[in-house]
Amino acid sequence: MFAPELEQGQIDELLALLETQKSELELQLAQAATAAKPVTLDQQSVGRVSRIDAIQQQQMALANQQQTTRMVKRIERALQRIASDAYGYCQQCEEPITFARLQVQPFADLCLNCQSASEKS
Ligand SMILES: [Zn+2]
Repeated sequence: MFAPELEQGQIDELLALLETQKSELELQLAQAATAAKPVTLDQQSVGRVSRIDAIQQQQMALANQQQTTRMVKRIERALQRIASDAYGYCQQCEEPITFARLQVQPFADLCLNCQSASEKS
């Protein structure tokens, strides 16, 4: 599949996208850190069910946080690839990744073919 290599203007656009996404995610993490204080429950007013609810909510928040952290790392790797001119190429088959795909997922490090192959396996 033919994909033209990225022009500088396109890389600049994607770089801006990555920076925006990264700061949004970091803001989310900062907010989660303040919200993730240990659940202190009033034993008298809080029943067993809502205690379990609170624990489940905390676990969900934690899972979200881990996912956000992984995403920040992916974005950081993409920024490093931009810095080292390796950005926009599939890490597996080394074909250029289409600009259209990168506009949706600027942190993508696999082309569509390799991505769907890795999701199947
Ligand atoms: Zn590929």
